[in-house]
Amino acid sequence: MRSRFPPTRFSLACCLALLLLITANSIHLAPVAYARAHGPARADDAVIVSVLGLFHPREFVVTAPPGRALILHAGEQSVVLENSGVSSATVRIDGSELIVSAEGQELRSTKVAVAGRGNESADFTLEIPGKIQRQYHGTLEIRPASANLLSIVTLDLETAVASVVAAESAPDTPLEALKAQAVAARSYFVAGQGRHRDFGFCDTTHCQFLRAAPPAGSRVVAAVEATRGLVLAYEAKSFAPMYTRSCGGRTRTPAQVGLPAAAYPYFPVDCQYCRRHPVRWTSSVPEHQAGSLRASDETSRLAMARRIGWSAVPSNDFSLAKDGDRVLLTGVGNGHGIGLCQAGAGAMAESGAGFQEILLHYYPNSDIVRHSGPNRSE
Ligand SMILES: [Zn+2]
Ligand SMILES: [Zn+2]
Repeated sequence: MRSRFPPTRFSLACCLALLLLITANSIHLAPVAYARAHGPARADDAVIVSVLGLFHPREFVVTAPPGRALILHAGEQSVVLENSGVSSATVRIDGSELIVSAEGQELRSTKVAVAGRGNESADFTLEIPGKIQRQYHGTLEIRPASANLLSIVTLDLETAVASVVAAESAPDTPLEALKAQAVAARSYFVAGQGRHRDFGFCDTTHCQFLRAAPPAGSRVVAAVEATRGLVLAYEAKSFAPMYTRSCGGRTRTPAQVGLPAAAYPYFPVDCQYCRRHPVRWTSSVPEHQAGSLRASDETSRLAMARRIGWSAVPSNDFSLAKDGDRVLLTGVGNGHGIGLCQAGAGAMAESGAGFQEILLHYYPNSDIVRHSGPNRSE
């Protein structure tokens, strides 16, 4: 839900640098190269994401791609995974330990690390047998966390941004809207740390959707390249922006939906596309499941969505009516309605708006600045 953001601390030097960038009208920056997108995850440019946690995994299969090698470290021992020999390993939880199986060999450890040769980022496939399989580019760590396995991928910032834009955008999204989404996603990674204790971000809407990195040459990669390093700032500090699928015609502030104030105050703006083409929905839920659900209250919506699913209550903009032993919800919009509206951004891009215009429409009084590295902005 992207609702709470820790304050971002900036050094004086960084504030000055950002101010200089803002005064230099940095929104008119030329497109920059994407050279490091598939290079190693640098320590100062890395995003640490817990992946596939929604599935409560107890077993993973890690596989090396054709022609590439992965090195799996389990305690003092290591296994080379490559197509010419053993290409995959199974990691299972066993109490507070892990059991690694690869070609009849069995290793025990409390932690497993997987990377390319030289501990570099590498392509790999992570699979929960019978449930899901996904490809990543980065380094991987697997360890027990209570009854399940925690799988943490460390990936380059720009690769992470591309992976979010690909997950968050419909295939026909116009390029300028993809660029706006890329800047929002990057800003979130740069300024949104602190919602989890053991890693930076999860891969669900609690933080940002993150799936496989898009293929080189795709429009998503082009959008990420064209905005490389650009983030949103408010009063010279980068902030983690909230965004929503469809706003219902006018965006809202966190306070309007019962959420705490954020680093960026948000300002309600009209969204012409959603005003003309509102996404209307109805839903009927048993009275006992509606619980404490209230209109314009994101916290009660999230609580109910966790119990019975997002489709039961797609937005917080609805009216309630009793209908026998059920409650009838009649609503508009999709998501919390705060910040950039993805439907509206797509329509603005189709009518000729650039990504800067889109971002400054949905995040009034913000600036688009070049980020100088996560560690340097704290
Ligand atoms: Zn999260
Ligand atoms: Zn909208």
